[in-house]
Formats: sequence, structure tokens, C-alpha cells
Amino acid sequence: MIPNLIGGEWLRPEADTLPVYDPATGEVIEQVPLSGTDAVTAAVAAADAAYKDWSRTPVMDRVRLMFSFKARLEAGFEDLARIVTRHHGKTLDEARGEVRRGVEVVDFACGAPTLLQGRTLRDVSGGVDQDLYRFPLGVVAGVPPFNFPVMIPLWMFPLAVVAGNTFVLKPSERTPLGAVRLAELFTEAGFPPGVLNLVHGAGPVVDALLTNPAVAAISFVGSAPVARHVYEVAAAQGKRVQALGGAKNHIVVMPDADLDAAVPAILGSAFGNAGERCLAGSVAVAVGDASGSLLEPLLARAAALKVGPGVEPGVDVGPLIRAEHRDRVAGYIERGAAEGAVVLLDGRSETSRAGFFLGPTVLDRVSDSMAVGRDEIFGPVLSVSHAATLEEAIGQANRMSLGNMAVIFTRSGKAARQFREQVDAGMIGVNVPVAQPFAFFPFSGWKGSFFGDLHVHGTDGIDFYTRKKMFISRW
Ligand code: NAD
Repeated sequence: MIPNLIGGEWLRPEADTLPVYDPATGEVIEQVPLSGTDAVTAAVAAADAAYKDWSRTPVMDRVRLMFSFKARLEAGFEDLARIVTRHHGKTLDEARGEVRRGVEVVDFACGAPTLLQGRTLRDVSGGVDQDLYRFPLGVVAGVPPFNFPVMIPLWMFPLAVVAGNTFVLKPSERTPLGAVRLAELFTEAGFPPGVLNLVHGAGPVVDALLTNPAVAAISFVGSAPVARHVYEVAAAQGKRVQALGGAKNHIVVMPDADLDAAVPAILGSAFGNAGERCLAGSVAVAVGDASGSLLEPLLARAAALKVGPGVEPGVDVGPLIRAEHRDRVAGYIERGAAEGAVVLLDGRSETSRAGFFLGPTVLDRVSDSMAVGRDEIFGPVLSVSHAATLEEAIGQANRMSLGNMAVIFTRSGKAARQFREQVDAGMIGVNVPVAQPFAFFPFSGWKGSFFGDLHVHGTDGIDFYTRKKMFISRW
């Protein structure tokens, strides 16, 4: 059983466990405890006890420890990537990309002496000066999803702790091993006990964090219904919340698009990470003449993608996270066909092998009145739809209840600008597979893809993990 980390001690709770799998083989590789509220209470108390000294630790000392953590992340980079592949299933290259994007948040956190600065206005009125200082919040809790077991925890705790908060992390019960390795490296870097705590488990652990009075703020990333639940419960308790939800991202292909560049990008977007990505391109909308030219190269290349274990060189598409999830995604293919979509490439041919595999699937003639055109599928299923005009394509994207990302492929600056101005999504790409903001900008989902006011990382992250105190003085 993997242990919790509470107040600097690795502890195995008396608790039921869930298996952690290697999705490429279906074998059980670990057991994760389903901790109870006692573990949550202990972890929050440990974080609360550590807060007084940690919040008063000079920022340069906090940053020195963050640099030490960063050095350990670089030294352990390949090991972290292999841990991700082993229990998530994504290819090693995808895992390396994930770890890099996570470490970039630590790079950003190392800029705390600048980021945590306040503002000042001397002589605001006769002899009176006014200053704004940033203070930490207290104990912050973080709840990541399964699909980025290293990157998403790194979106959360480095910025929170460098700002002077202490942290309780509840890793995904399906992929808890990345967070364990991160916590080991964090401890080795010399952070004091209790600054970062880990409590493994599922929904009940999250609910205990949401209602614990000593938890000041929650960073959540996961599916839209759970994001809404976390937002509603935590906000009702007076906590600060950022809750990132699911996605149904559209990729619009204009008649003037460079298909040699667009087709591989669309495949990378739809089938990278086996489609288990909140920035996955889920629906490709071919506009006008693109309808006639897109499908042939798309299908040829999609059919040539190699499905297999993520550790094998040359593999493009790894397994899904669990057999139940694979069956749910396969159910969407069946449902799409029943609703009138045309199955041009059927990944269900890959389901007979060991592990939780499903191959790339392309459905044509999908509309947003079908479940496959509306719901987040979270697997390697690309839906294709057709629109006469850019306005029609934008209208389709804007009918989604979720608004994470949208991408356009075009050679026209005018079309790209219209797309940027009119699409109701918070992350817009032009001629890129995935519009993921770097660590120094916010990860900026809209509509049902985000509940809260301040997004993760970037200066939003600093604002989220600090509260402002005004100081007005006359001497
Ligand atoms: P999930 O919502 O099932 O789980 C996320 C976390 O919430 C886990 O730690 C889980 O233990 C906890 N949880 C699950 N059910 C709960 C409940 N009823 N009450 C309280 N806590 C609960 O999500 P997942 O399947 O792990 O991850 C995939 C989802 O995450 C997809 O919808 C994906 O789009 C989304 N996601 C969003 C972003 C983003 O930035 N917007 C990034 C990655 C993933």
C-alpha cells in the first residue's frame, strides 16, 4: 500500500485499498489507500501547524528551497516520466512533455521575489502613503485528476507554498504514484515537515477537505460535474476556489488551411495522450471545400498510427486508464453510429489485446445534436462535422456548454482574428494542435470548463494563493 505523507511522516492508514494498474498490461502494480476523514483531519492539522513558521520564513529562503526542488526534478526527470507512463499509460514522449510542462511552473515559482511584490503610492494625500502587501492564505488543498499525474499537482503546490501557504494534496486514486515521487523530491529538497502533505483516497477525502474549517482555499482539476460540486460546496463554506472542469474542443479547418501541417496537428490533438486530455481536439469542423480535401489524408494517417504500450519506441497511442473507461468510450462509438454518424475508422479492433487499449477512431457526419458531438468522450475518438461557413463552424463550437479550447487552421489572418474574437472559449489556437498556455500565463477555461475567478498558474495563480493587505500611514 502506498503511504500518506502527514507532517513529514510517511504513514499507511488502516483503510480499504484500490488497485493501481499498469494500463498497458492490465496488471495491478500497487494499492492505494482510501483514507478516511481521520487522515484528512491529521493532514490539515499538520499543514496548519506548519503554517505559522512557514508563512514567516523569508521569501528568499522559500525560493532557495524551490530551486533545490527544481534541481531534484531535473535530476529525476526521466524517472518521473517513466512513473507517469507506467501507471497512466501515455507514451514516454508524452510523459516527458507532461513533466517538462509541470517543471516550468516550478521555474515560474522561483520568480517569487518579483511575483510576490506589492505596490506603493507615496503621498496619496498630504503626508499619507499607501502600500499593498501580499500575504498567504493558510492551508490550501489540491485535488488533481488522473490524466496528468505529475503536471497538474505541479500546477498547484509549488506556487502555493512559495507564496507562504502550506498544502494538502489528494492525488487521483487512479494515478497516485507521480505525486508520491514529487513529495519525496520535495522532502529531500529540505522543505520543513507539514508544508506539503499527501492524503490518498477518493470522493470522501475531497468532501472532508471541502468542509474542513482550517482549509482556506481549494485548487481542483477534474470533470465538469465534480468541478461544479467542489465549487459549490467550498464556496458555500467561504473558501476560495478554482475548479477546472471538462472540455469539448473544436478544431476548425478552413478551405485555405495548409493540410500538410494541419492533418498531423489534428491527429496529435485528438489522439495524443489517447485523447485523455482536457485540451484534446474532439470535433474537427471542415469548412466549405475543406470537406472534400480533409478526410482522405486524415484517415490515411490515423489508420497508420501505432497503438501499443507507452514504453515501446514508435508507439503513437497508448492505452486508456481503465477497462471501464475504455468500454465507456467504445459505447460512444456505438451510440454515434446509432445516432447517424459514419464510422470511418473503428478503434474497437484494438480492444482484444491485453491492457486497456482502444485504437484511433474517426466518426464522420457528426452534429451537436448527437451525444458524440456534445459530450466529453475523453478517448481517442475524433468526430468530424461539416459547415458551409466560418460563422456556422463558430456557432457549432459556441453551442457547447464547455469552453476550454478551440483551434483554427487557416492561412487567413482575417479568419483567425474573427475566430479569436467570436469563439466562447478561453484558450484559442491558430495553426497549433493544442493551445496550452505556458506556466507564466493563466490556464484559462471558460463556461462549464471553469468555476471560479482566478485561474491556475501565471499571475492568476499568484493572486489566487495570496490575499492583499492595504497599509495607509501618516507619520
Ligand atoms: P474526476 O472528476 O473523476 O476526478 C477528479 C478528482 O476528483 C479526483 O481526484 C477524484 O478523486 C475526485 N472526485 C471524483 N469524484 C468525486 C466526487 N463525487 N466528489 C468529490 N471528489 C471527487 O476526473 P478524472 O476522470 O480524474 O479526470 C478527467 C477529467 O478531468 C476530464 O473531464 C478532463 O477534461 C478534466 N480535466 C480538466 C483539465 C482542465 O484544465 N480543465 C485538465 C485535466 C483534466
